[in-house]
Amino acid sequence: MAKQTGKIGVTAENIFPIIKKFLYSEQEIFLRELVSNAVDATQKVKAIARSGEIKEELGDLTIRVKVDKENKTITISDSGIGMDAEEVDKYINQIAFTSANYFLEKYKDKIEAIIGHFGLGFYSAFMVAQKVELISKSYKPDSKAVKWVCDGSPEFTIEETEKETRGTDVILYVGDEEAEFLENSKIEKLLNKYCKFLPIPIGFGKEQEWKDGKYVDTDKDKIINETEPLWKKKPTDLKEEDYKKFYKDLYPQSWEEPLFYIHLNVDYPFNLTGVLYFPKIRTNLEVQKNKIQLYSNQVFVTDSVENIVPEFLTLLHGVLDSPDIPLNVSRSYLQTDSNVKKISNHITKKVADKLSEIFKNQRDDFEKKWDDLKLFIQYGMLTDEKFYDRAKEFLLFKNVDNKYFSSEEYQKIIKDNQTDSDKKLIYLYTTNKTEQYKFIEDAKNKVYDVLVLDGAFDMPFINMYESKLENARFARVDSDTIDNLVRKDDKKNLQISKEEQDDMTTVYEAAAPQTVGTYFVQFRNLGEQELPVVITQSEYMRRMKDIGLLGGAEVNLYNNLPDNYNLVINASHQITKQIIEQKNTELGEKVNELNNKIKSVDTEIDALEKLTKNKKEEEISTEEKEQKEKLHQQRSDIQNEKNKILKEWAVKNKLIKQVIDLALLSKNLLKGEALLTFVKRSVDFIEK
Ligand code: ADP
Repeated sequence: MAKQTGKIGVTAENIFPIIKKFLYSEQEIFLRELVSNAVDATQKVKAIARSGEIKEELGDLTIRVKVDKENKTITISDSGIGMDAEEVDKYINQIAFTSANYFLEKYKDKIEAIIGHFGLGFYSAFMVAQKVELISKSYKPDSKAVKWVCDGSPEFTIEETEKETRGTDVILYVGDEEAEFLENSKIEKLLNKYCKFLPIPIGFGKEQEWKDGKYVDTDKDKIINETEPLWKKKPTDLKEEDYKKFYKDLYPQSWEEPLFYIHLNVDYPFNLTGVLYFPKIRTNLEVQKNKIQLYSNQVFVTDSVENIVPEFLTLLHGVLDSPDIPLNVSRSYLQTDSNVKKISNHITKKVADKLSEIFKNQRDDFEKKWDDLKLFIQYGMLTDEKFYDRAKEFLLFKNVDNKYFSSEEYQKIIKDNQTDSDKKLIYLYTTNKTEQYKFIEDAKNKVYDVLVLDGAFDMPFINMYESKLENARFARVDSDTIDNLVRKDDKKNLQISKEEQDDMTTVYEAAAPQTVGTYFVQFRNLGEQELPVVITQSEYMRRMKDIGLLGGAEVNLYNNLPDNYNLVINASHQITKQIIEQKNTELGEKVNELNNKIKSVDTEIDALEKLTKNKKEEEISTEEKEQKEKLHQQRSDIQNEKNKILKEWAVKNKLIKQVIDLALLSKNLLKGEALLTFVKRSVDFIEK
């Protein structure tokens, strides 16, 4: 055959500069494409040999990658099926070119949106090469070796050449701008990234040995890949250690062992293999270096699997291998692809199966790992309805005594004792065992159980979980006094009159430190054992504030809300009674006098109201209207005068301050100067 020159493809357009420029950021995939071609060619020759068409031994099938820094070349050699001149023309000049051209046309404008860039194929060589030579000899008997050369323009030459052995060498003449690819370390890194699990041995350099005081090359190839990766093996042939070792191979930097693994193996209705690991994740979801790696027939594609697996599963580690995931289409398209949906649903199901199996068969182990698993499971339950339905059976709750319960078990435990008079089941919880210690003790005294919910997703989780429960409610132990959290029967009559309560409300409001927040004073019989004053923050308000803290414009409103507290006065406590008595002895006369004045104004207002009650608006005289206004003004003046007296008395009263401070202290709200003042005042009390 004489040397021939020709133009590649049908279009005269020069696609090579496009290849170089458009895919610049992904230059490195050229190696994956060329090595994959070599693997394909080798697998084909093996298949042909199996069919009996090739009689002789196939010999060494190792694919070799070589870097020649001096001549600025990278060579990829295989002993696969090879091509004769006709085939080179057909596959390289026509098919490969047409498909590369098609690929570029289609994705020119959205190249970043393409996963893995599968489909560019052979011509990706021009991402790093100025000139490409392909020397090939077909497996077919008596075929002649052929050399194809293309220098980056659409022109190529093809001629006969000498080649001893079957297979193909692709020689890349690397351009000056791409000189980094002539570093052995660079190529080794790329082989490790893309070719680590390819099914045919790939040699890069030689094994070395220690000889005469230095390392020297042996003639044994250094194989960079594992041709039979763990996920392709049968689970029954594998031991726990194998999975652990594979995890280390995948993530050499990780020092934590995975909690457990799931081996995936499906071939119908789609093809999917892989191993997923549950990592130890606690709080920081951002720190997630060990990503799931996606392979297609053992060729690495990407490690961003968003939109391929459900979001909560992206927290897992490991590998997925599926030729059924379309790898060269945009990510947004993947979400709607039915195969991808099926794959993602399957993975969710498998994950749930595995967790359920461990929950049922190895409950101890499951409990031990729960604190690490919890974040992941809650995240899944929050974001994936299907997973929620499965996970509710193995969801665990931990109580303050570090005991674990399934939701069903827990309901049984609290049902009798923690159902209130409205038949609502109350789940008590703490977010901080030390800070809410007093309230936990109060609950324990009533033989109530308290859960620990201090995880990153606990709050959004219980908001959601509560909405799924019927007749149940979560309440933080310090969100009210324990009697009120689990209200059993109607409140016992308070010993304090309505009038007295009004006065004392003014008194307590005035004495409470205004810096902490605003207070809503209530009177309740809490019993002699309880503190004289208890401070709580309503569950609702606190959850709203928590939402505010999570950020986001629409929730900023909640952030600006003041801290609202309930100041619950224990009406049955001796000290409360003592304070009221004190007030009556010290202010009795003055206050009584004003109260009487208010009463007489009220009588006048009542009389006037009666008089005008049945009159239409226009029938009421101006005189009557003025009189009404005057009386109301009078009333409010007297009220203010009384409040002023009460307030002045309250701020000077050390006992009230002391009982409020005690309440603040047991809620961890007493800080800085206020704390010091409290300590000093306490010393005064002791000295007395
Ligand atoms: P793809 O591999 O997706 O088919 P490529 O552009 O990479 O596309 O290759 C086009 C064709 O060229 C291949 O299908 C194959 O027939 C042939 N080919 C490429 N590389 C080799 C090789 N190393 N040995 C034998 N044939 C090859």
